[in-house]
Amino acid sequence: MVNRSIAFPMPQDLQDVLDGLERFVQTEVIEVHEANLELLEDVRLRFGPDGAYSPEVVALIRRIRMASAEAGYFNLAVPESLGGGGMGDLAYFAAWERIYHLCGGRRWLAQFAISHWAFGPSAVLERVTDRAREEILPGMMAGETMMCFGMSEPDAGSDATMIRTRAEPDGDGWRLSGRKIWTTHVPIAEWMIALAVTNPERAKARRGGISAFLVPTNAEGFTLDRVIGMWGEPGGSEAESVLDGVRVEPWQLVGELDEGFAIGLLGVSLGRIYNTARSVGLSRWAIEQSVAYAMQRQAFGKPISEYQGVAFPLAESATDIHAAHLLGCNAAMLLDSGHRAIKELSMAKTFAVRAAVKAVDRAMQTHGAMGFTNELGLTEAYHVLRVINVADGTNEILNRTIFQRLAAGDTEL
Ligand SMILES: Cc1cc2nc3c(=O)[nH]c(=O)nc-3n(C[C@H](O)[C@H](O)[C@H](O)COP(=O)(O)OP(=O)(O)OC[C@H]3O[C@@H](n4cnc5c(N)ncnc54)[C@H](O)[C@@H]3O)c2cc1C
Repeated sequence: MVNRSIAFPMPQDLQDVLDGLERFVQTEVIEVHEANLELLEDVRLRFGPDGAYSPEVVALIRRIRMASAEAGYFNLAVPESLGGGGMGDLAYFAAWERIYHLCGGRRWLAQFAISHWAFGPSAVLERVTDRAREEILPGMMAGETMMCFGMSEPDAGSDATMIRTRAEPDGDGWRLSGRKIWTTHVPIAEWMIALAVTNPERAKARRGGISAFLVPTNAEGFTLDRVIGMWGEPGGSEAESVLDGVRVEPWQLVGELDEGFAIGLLGVSLGRIYNTARSVGLSRWAIEQSVAYAMQRQAFGKPISEYQGVAFPLAESATDIHAAHLLGCNAAMLLDSGHRAIKELSMAKTFAVRAAVKAVDRAMQTHGAMGFTNELGLTEAYHVLRVINVADGTNEILNRTIFQRLAAGDTEL
């Protein structure tokens, strides 16, 4: 599927991978979803009594990850130094966009079709020790195991310097104590990269002092406190966990001591590429459905597409999403060419997520009552997109970052 509205097409090797990925998603995500409709869509089956995914759902998630690894897609953007495909950030962007475009709002297993930086292999794992590579990499590259990223805490959200989890020195290692919240997939992950204060003075002065550690979620002292239900659902992916004197050794340190934010920043850059792509992909899917529906749905003697009140909002969203796509490609290409692209990543993510919420809202309006039915999946897309106006850097924090860059003289637009 070549996008003829873009003047600079994806390189042919990436195009070929995307075409193969599309076939993989069709059989291993979409068909698997259809074959397990009740399990995946009935919240009474999807979640266990504790609110976490039921064992049958966890097995399907693992099956998709492993099938993707086997087929060569799971690690397509993971650096070659880790044994991945090394295809880079543009490939990461394009692959996620394609996945969400194909899967739409209902096929939520799409999120496991390739490795997401917070849950599986990525450049972040280049920062782990040799021993950690031996321990975790084979399982994660094969899609057998997964991780999660524990930065946020009850008193530390946008301002992550307020992290209270402490890493107290203990022999040659540390003991971690604190509480993590909103950690996506912690109930089903084998590992967590947890941020903790290692130098309270530096942390207080906002000059580092926070380190990243690789922690097994079955470690002594690690407990899952509660799964956090959202949007009225009885369960979910986000959860709160407690670390009570969890012992970590030097091999579990990720990156440099006291420089854990560097790990966080590397991760959130990938997260912003992911969320821009997710926004664009889901919006494309929603707009396509809306155009098709508007052209066949009749009211007052003609298709509703002939009313400007229906057509123009869709035209405006199409324009927004075209722009979001270009912002996302540009930011990814900047990363690929070695730039940090802080301003451009922030612009891409905040623009794309706001445009996507508007696009899906308009898609629901176009469909009338149909727009709110479970079978269309627009409400699921809306939920997912509305949430990422907060997750991975809120729109306000991204605007703050953009302005900080402008004020520092980075005014090239
Ligand atoms: C679905 C979901 C999944 C998540 N997954 C993870 C995860 O896996 N791991 C993890 O560590 N965290 C995760 N988070 C947490 C996420 O990173 C935080 O929600 C986010 O950083 C915002 O923090 P907060 O929710 O505490 O809001 P706060 O920081 O309390 O902000 C509240 C409001 O104040 C605004 N605000 C704050 N400071 C400023 C400012 N200087 N200027 C203007 N406005 C400001 C914010 O934009 C926001 O609107 C997840 C969140 C969600 C919703």
